[in-house]
Amino acid sequence: MENEIIRILTCDNLTEAHLVKGRLENDGINCFLTNQNFTNLVPMYNNMMGAGIQIMIEEKNYEEAYEILQDKINPQTKNLTCPNCGSNNIKLGLGKYKGFKLLNIFIAIFSFLPLGNLKPKYFCKDCKTEIN
Ligand SMILES: [Zn+2]
Repeated sequence: MENEIIRILTCDNLTEAHLVKGRLENDGINCFLTNQNFTNLVPMYNNMMGAGIQIMIEEKNYEEAYEILQDKINPQTKNLTCPNCGSNNIKLGLGKYKGFKLLNIFIAIFSFLPLGNLKPKYFCKDCKTEIN
């Protein structure tokens, strides 16, 4: 089966990118960085052009990498509380639609959409309420 290479995260600078790479590799996930040279040459254009250092992984490792990097991808997760029960036990995921996750990634790749457009939802692990 062919392995697609996808972006898991975009970092603002090389130091951060290498930290992320180290975290993934510690867990046995192969990854590589792209846009490195461009970002070093013209750092001031990063925000303007939406560039940055992209962490690329194999699609088969996506779910695992997402778990490892959850605090990087969605740092705000830590500050959320459940509106239903007040719990801080909030997790990012695709909630009850989890079964469609791989299909969504598949669609995203073939329609050339960034994976960020999948809009996974936050949900409370204690009472299973979805948080928008
Ligand atoms: Zn709750």
